[in-house]
Amino acid sequence: MMPELIPILSAAELRRLVLDLAQRIEADYRGRNLVLIGVLKGSFVFLSDLIRQLGMPVKVDFVQASSYGNGTESSGHIRLSKGIGLDIRGQDVLVVEDIVDTGLTVRWIIDYLTSLQPRSVTVCALINKPARREVDVPIAYAGYVAGNGFLVGYGLDYAEQYRHLPDVCQLNL
Ligand code: 5GP
Repeated sequence: MMPELIPILSAAELRRLVLDLAQRIEADYRGRNLVLIGVLKGSFVFLSDLIRQLGMPVKVDFVQASSYGNGTESSGHIRLSKGIGLDIRGQDVLVVEDIVDTGLTVRWIIDYLTSLQPRSVTVCALINKPARREVDVPIAYAGYVAGNGFLVGYGLDYAEQYRHLPDVCQLNL
């Protein structure tokens, strides 16, 4: 059977959502030195739209964290496969994440970045999936609250497929 793709967020809805997040971030950080840290790979489309809606200069870097295990669930054992290159000491840092699900990945990334002594670390997530949260993580800017379905498109993949889709869709295998 063919996998089924059910649209959840259209390109137009994503544009509105990203603009709203950008305006809130800009209002809070205007005049400060903000460093956006994108979490590879899923956040790259979101981050590229977000920086173009922010009416202020920002620096950008990326981290990549892999969780051991496979499939569609986070195992909770996180490994850093790419750390940051920028010096963030004393800077305001905003972690730009695609989805916060169990919270384990972003918790780990917050702890890693905090060890580099920034002035502050906050989180912006395009999609918040609170139902399966295992650790408490503060998400200062959350775009859309989703249920438990597995989402693809707008940078999000399943086995490296579907990242190119302009909409966020639920994948039913
Ligand atoms: P965590 O469970 O640690 O909060 O999330 C780990 C990672 O799993 C997220 O950064 C995200 O990349 C990925 N993830 C969680 N839910 C989904 C989903 O519905 N679709 C895709 N493509 N990735 C997801």
